[in-house]
Amino acid sequence: MSIDLSGKVAIVTGSTSGIGLAMARNFAGLGAQVVINGLGEETDIQAALDDVASAGATTPKYDPANMLDADAIRGMISSAESEFGSVDILVNNAGIQHTARIEDFPHGRWEDIISINLSSAFYAINAALPGMQKRDFGRIINIASVHGLVGSVEKSAYVAAKHGIIGLTKVTALENATQNITCNAICPGWVRTALVEKQIAALAEKESLETEEAARQLLAAKEPSLRFTRPEELAEAAAFLCGPGGANMTGASLAMDGGWSIQ
Ligand code: NAD
Repeated sequence: MSIDLSGKVAIVTGSTSGIGLAMARNFAGLGAQVVINGLGEETDIQAALDDVASAGATTPKYDPANMLDADAIRGMISSAESEFGSVDILVNNAGIQHTARIEDFPHGRWEDIISINLSSAFYAINAALPGMQKRDFGRIINIASVHGLVGSVEKSAYVAAKHGIIGLTKVTALENATQNITCNAICPGWVRTALVEKQIAALAEKESLETEEAARQLLAAKEPSLRFTRPEELAEAAAFLCGPGGANMTGASLAMDGGWSIQ
């Protein structure tokens, strides 16, 4: 079954870099009208727009909604609906990380991680569902993490948010099960993006290691396949969930973690 997303409108939050950008690019290549979102300098945003535009025939749009701002999230959904007629695919991907033991965890970082990594998905789904229900079509994909399935030290806020988004995924799936609306979570292990480069750099500094040795040690500690999942591999999974093969798959949490979570 081939995947053709022409005529579909896809919003990918946090798609100015990393996993979200790969998903936006792939959706555009499959024919979707794409709305990208995320933070960044004007030149980075333009580069992301050019990247997505080069993959497809439609002109992608950038929406600057900050995932800390519920009104801006609602505005992002409604402006896509008025400009393009619908929101058919919603990927809640924006996310941040902060590592510290619970007793040292800064309260503001806790609040931001819960807001960006979890609450923003609720606000976006809350705003997008009425239109999806009216049109009897929706594909919602939440980018959780292996940390939605298992814990790790020094990641309390991230693990709490990612377990939470898997719960939100299940309830969204159940409440819409009789309509042509699915909601699934993708749970990556290590992916070498800006979010993880910071963790590699922190380990390199702490243990006085070369960057590549720190990366190797991060993988060896958790990921049996001993390699990073590529953003393009995650984008293929997201496309599958939007295509005909994924139509009756809902509420699932797809681990793409090289075996991390099965140990
Ligand atoms: P990344 O840092 O490259 O991308 C994060 C994106 O979120 C960027 O576009 C950034 O601008 C955006 N963002 C951050 N704060 C925002 C805000 N307040 N408002 C709007 N956008 C905001 O990192 P990534 O690795 O591509 O992460 C994407 C998702 O994948 C995150 O949810 C992350 O938790 C998840 N994830 C990543 C890994 C990994 O190893 N990299 C593993 C599992 C899950």
